Amino acid sequence: MGAPIVIIGAGIGGLSAAIHLAAAGERVIVLEKNAATGGKMGEVEADGFRWDTGPSVITMRPVFEDLFRTANRRLEDYLTLLPLQPLTRYFYADGSVLDVDADPQVTAERLERYHPGDGDGYLRFLRYANEIHEATGDVFIYGAPPTWQTLMGVNPLRMVKTDALRTMQAAIESFVRSPQARQLLGRFATYTGASPYLAPATLNVIAHVELNGGVWYPQGGIAQISKALTRLALELGVEIRTGCHVEGIELRFDRVVGVRAAEERIETNRVIANVDVISVYERLLPPIPRVRRELARLTKLEPSSSGFIMLLGVGGEHPQLAHHNIFFSGDYADEFRDIFQRGLPPRQPTIYVAITAKSDPQHAPPGSENWFVLINTPPDSEGTKSSFDWRSQAGNYSRVALDRLATAFDVDVRGRIRTQQILTPPDLEALTAARRGALYGQSSNDRMAAFRRPHNRSTAVKGLYFAGGTAHPGGGVPLVTLSGKVAAAMVSADR
Ligand SMILES: Cc1cc2nc3c(=O)[nH]c(=O)nc-3n(C[C@H](O)[C@H](O)[C@H](O)COP(=O)(O)OP(=O)(O)OC[C@H]3O[C@@H](n4cnc5c(N)ncnc54)[C@H](O)[C@@H]3O)c2cc1C
Repeated sequence: MGAPIVIIGAGIGGLSAAIHLAAAGERVIVLEKNAATGGKMGEVEADGFRWDTGPSVITMRPVFEDLFRTANRRLEDYLTLLPLQPLTRYFYADGSVLDVDADPQVTAERLERYHPGDGDGYLRFLRYANEIHEATGDVFIYGAPPTWQTLMGVNPLRMVKTDALRTMQAAIESFVRSPQARQLLGRFATYTGASPYLAPATLNVIAHVELNGGVWYPQGGIAQISKALTRLALELGVEIRTGCHVEGIELRFDRVVGVRAAEERIETNRVIANVDVISVYERLLPPIPRVRRELARLTKLEPSSSGFIMLLGVGGEHPQLAHHNIFFSGDYADEFRDIFQRGLPPRQPTIYVAITAKSDPQHAPPGSENWFVLINTPPDSEGTKSSFDWRSQAGNYSRVALDRLATAFDVDVRGRIRTQQILTPPDLEALTAARRGALYGQSSNDRMAAFRRPHNRSTAVKGLYFAGGTAHPGGGVPLVTLSGKVAAAMVSADR
């Protein structure tokens, strides 16, 4: 066997690439700086509570089934993916509550009570979102990155179906009228760290994958996914070295010749970086002119939103809450203006609360709950736009959120928090190496984002590939899994 393929980072994209390559008979070494694999898909335990610290909503089950099939395995032998019901419970500022059911017909009947015709509008919206999925799937999601050439080959009628010329919100308003239905459908922009008022309507495809395809919970916690992929990679012969911080990728002219870690150097001509793409150009590559040019292009791209996270061990149980809960703000448009135009954490935030103890009771001591609370925020300011200082303001902001839950929704946990950890955008950057704490890489607010996003094959350095949330097809667990597949296919094709 020749030199190994080196993968830097054991996040989901890196593990997916490793599995694809090892299943194809390649020798693969994964170098991970942390003590554990999984990257952003982390977990922590404290005082009898357990939390997932990163992703909490898993969609697109077929993507994971496909990955296991690649290695001649069955997902069911590694993971128990439970379908969630309701998918999410939505609490609105006017006091109304909506359970979104896995069966769209049931949700449609519930929406009808907010505005006559919205039930039908919802079902028509889901058919439209499904059509976007059919029109965009192979060009923007499941295959190699889109180029002008691939687009030229697409039937013009299909291009129209991508609905790229209006915003998500404009499209949603053409189907449903009630604020409840509009806020529910607009919310899916946040799955790519974008705003429904700015992002192209093409992103309504995200509603399709969740509302038509369902939400899945891996029994034991979301981190079971990274554990299952790690197990599979090891079974296929992948060598995973944790605690191994890569310090540089070595080049001869513009071609990869090796990887340098603290204690060793590995000779290789094929590297997949499962690391934030900008960090690779900025910190891991020598500053040759081609690298500097690509870095200058990438740093101009707007990062996606970040998040303010509270991991709360809450005394007492809340039967009125489900596994996934959203407490909406009263003025969604203004909330997104705060995040993307004013560069401020929303003054009146939408608050997401996930409680895995609803599905896995052992995640919290009896009579208590493990709350993962997430609020969308701008990426860390780094001297741009806002000057919000998370280091001094995190405590105040957690009070804003908990006061709002108590006063607007009558869910008051303020005197019952037994243990808590807070993660701000700068903490996320430090923990996950996500530039400015952006959760989903580059922002999708711009119609051209899918074209500007880094491809999985470096244009500046030969033998360098990218898998992960900052490369095609974008952030989120299913998409980074696909990203690993695309990067692996490119490595194999270039052999
Ligand atoms: C709070 C939060 C909530 C989220 N919610 C959801 C959700 O509900 N649903 C969803 O689908 N997605 C969600 N996401 C996004 C999802 O978690 C990510 O898109 C995905 O996990 C990123 O995977 P990745 O392959 O890009 O690798 P990452 O997770 O970014 O991992 C990269 C790995 O590379 C390692 N590394 C970096 N530099 C080096 C180096 N120099 N040497 C060695 N190793 C290195 C890191 O330690 C890390 O392990 C969320 C993310 C966060 C943070």
